[in-house]
Amino acid sequence: MVIVLERSISDGDKERVRAYLAARGFKVREIIGEQETILGAVGIVPVDIREVELLPGVARVIPITSPYKLASREFRREDSVIAVGPVRIGGPRVVVIAGPCAVESREQVLESAELVRGSGAVLFRAGAFKPRTSPYAFQGLGEEGLRYLKEAGERYGMPVVSEIVSPEHADMLRDYVDVLQVGARNMQNFELLKRVGGLGRPVLLKRGFAATIQELLMSAEYLLASGSDRVILCERGIRTFETATRNTLDLSAIPVVKKLTHLPIIVDPSHGTGLRAMVSPMALAAVAAGADGITVEVHPDPDHALSDGPQSLHPGQFEKLMRDIEALAPVLGKEVARLPASDACVPRGGRGPAVGAAGRGDSGAPARVAFQGERGAFSEHAAHLHFAAEVEAVPEPDFRAVFEAVLQARARWGIVPVENSLTGSIHQNYDLLLQYPDVRIAGEQKIRIVHNLIGYPGTAIASIRRVYSHPQGLAQCAAFLDAHPGWERVSWDDTASAVRHVAETGERANAAIASEEAARVHGLAVLRQAIEANPQNYTRFVVIERDPGGEGEPEPASGRTGRPDKASFCFVTADRPGALFAALKVLADRGLNMKKLESRPILGRPWQYQFYLDVDVPADRAAFDAAVAALAGATEDLRVLGIYRAG
Ligand code: PEP
Ligand code: MN
Repeated sequence: MVIVLERSISDGDKERVRAYLAARGFKVREIIGEQETILGAVGIVPVDIREVELLPGVARVIPITSPYKLASREFRREDSVIAVGPVRIGGPRVVVIAGPCAVESREQVLESAELVRGSGAVLFRAGAFKPRTSPYAFQGLGEEGLRYLKEAGERYGMPVVSEIVSPEHADMLRDYVDVLQVGARNMQNFELLKRVGGLGRPVLLKRGFAATIQELLMSAEYLLASGSDRVILCERGIRTFETATRNTLDLSAIPVVKKLTHLPIIVDPSHGTGLRAMVSPMALAAVAAGADGITVEVHPDPDHALSDGPQSLHPGQFEKLMRDIEALAPVLGKEVARLPASDACVPRGGRGPAVGAAGRGDSGAPARVAFQGERGAFSEHAAHLHFAAEVEAVPEPDFRAVFEAVLQARARWGIVPVENSLTGSIHQNYDLLLQYPDVRIAGEQKIRIVHNLIGYPGTAIASIRRVYSHPQGLAQCAAFLDAHPGWERVSWDDTASAVRHVAETGERANAAIASEEAARVHGLAVLRQAIEANPQNYTRFVVIERDPGGEGEPEPASGRTGRPDKASFCFVTADRPGALFAALKVLADRGLNMKKLESRPILGRPWQYQFYLDVDVPADRAAFDAAVAALAGATEDLRVLGIYRAG
């Protein structure tokens, strides 16, 4: 059962509830959520729920009806996010695990790790104990293989995943790997599950090829009940009558699993299809279906692999797959998970000295990122997507307050929108970048904007009379709203506060247009999804930070290559013929690719204009710096707003 505690419960009362449950043989777990604190209690002794409800400090008790308890959505409504070193699995990220089927040699595993890391994988996989169908097939290098695997993970800064096949190996594996994989053949090896669950390591649990989804969840329950709190599920294909593929990849399991459990689920298209040509299409389909990530077999030389060569991607194919996933993720409102460049947490393109390896500031708390709006705002979503590690998103009332928070070091970073793909630049933030010369752009994040009609749960759309949103939200959903001519459209400060207002009015005829997250934060329901007229609706945010002042190069970014590849400038030209042409000629002569040029009136100088310019930063940094110096010579008041990694 799930025991929801009153917000004001005292420590003493909480202890008494725990003691009551423990005395009746219940295992108790406390989950501190954003909205409420709950105790999950699992046991075999029947207890009268009403008795628990009467305990001081208990708000309500919800029985868990599914046969799996700790794994069920009833136990935990929010998605679980599993931490593996600097990587977070679950939530708005797509995690890519890659590597060869098996560790074959030290060289092979080092080469594999280097190439998959280079393409953007965040976890490295390879088996040292291989459960093979034939006893004569390669069985893996055992502990020697684990040593090579660990070396590769450490050298390339990637947590490693490897399979455990016997409870006897548990202690040994714990010394070498970050995530223990329980393979399809062992999904129902309950003694193994109990042993692995007790190790305190994250576990990747693969679905057996003849197992139902419910059986998979029961196996996850074994792990959780044995003490594990970090379980990742994996769909890897099931046996059907079909012979054209090695297995039938059951992608329909993804939405089913998402409904039934809070645990993340990833997909293995390599074992799921058994054929290289099918791996990338199914990997993309898995991401599109909502998987939290994929695990793929990649080999430097698949034709000579000791196991599963025919389903292993060539390095170039993997590189292409990563690029495709990168393009797909924003469509789904997600971001491909990245490893921090060093062991510091940095935004893509930013510097990271203030935040340690776990993404925490010196005080041990997560680094703070200021955003404009309220909980559930699109800006908050962008902040969480942007940073590889956990950050605390701090709401500020307006854009200027975000800049102030950064300047006064109340927040390590800020995030502000600068451009929407449908409605153009958000000039106020460009103006603020100029007004705050000590603040600079440290990174960039693009997100897809999906608007939803949000109201009271169960409300019929026909009974709505009034809709609140930010003017842009109303404008972007005009086609939908036009179909309801009787509705009053009310402009509000921002989308998330419109949802809060609707929740506060208590009126079922009121609705708001905002993100799904805003509905969740304020306990309202999405009545109609994706009502924006144009699905190609993206907003570009910039991450801002305090400029430490002429310290030269920014630190390497946390992106794939780590190199800042975009720069933003503002400049004024002299009032004479050809002045702008002269500035642009500098770019042309030096081979700099311009991404954006926009003119804006200069505040306080009517009918005079300044220009905003974005360019690609080439690999040759010295040449770029020389070009910037030349540009400064051809313009007036050249300001470098930031040199960062494009998002
Ligand atoms: C593997 O991932 O290497 C493996 C053997 O997978 P499965 O257990 O899904 O067959
Ligand atoms: Mn394999």
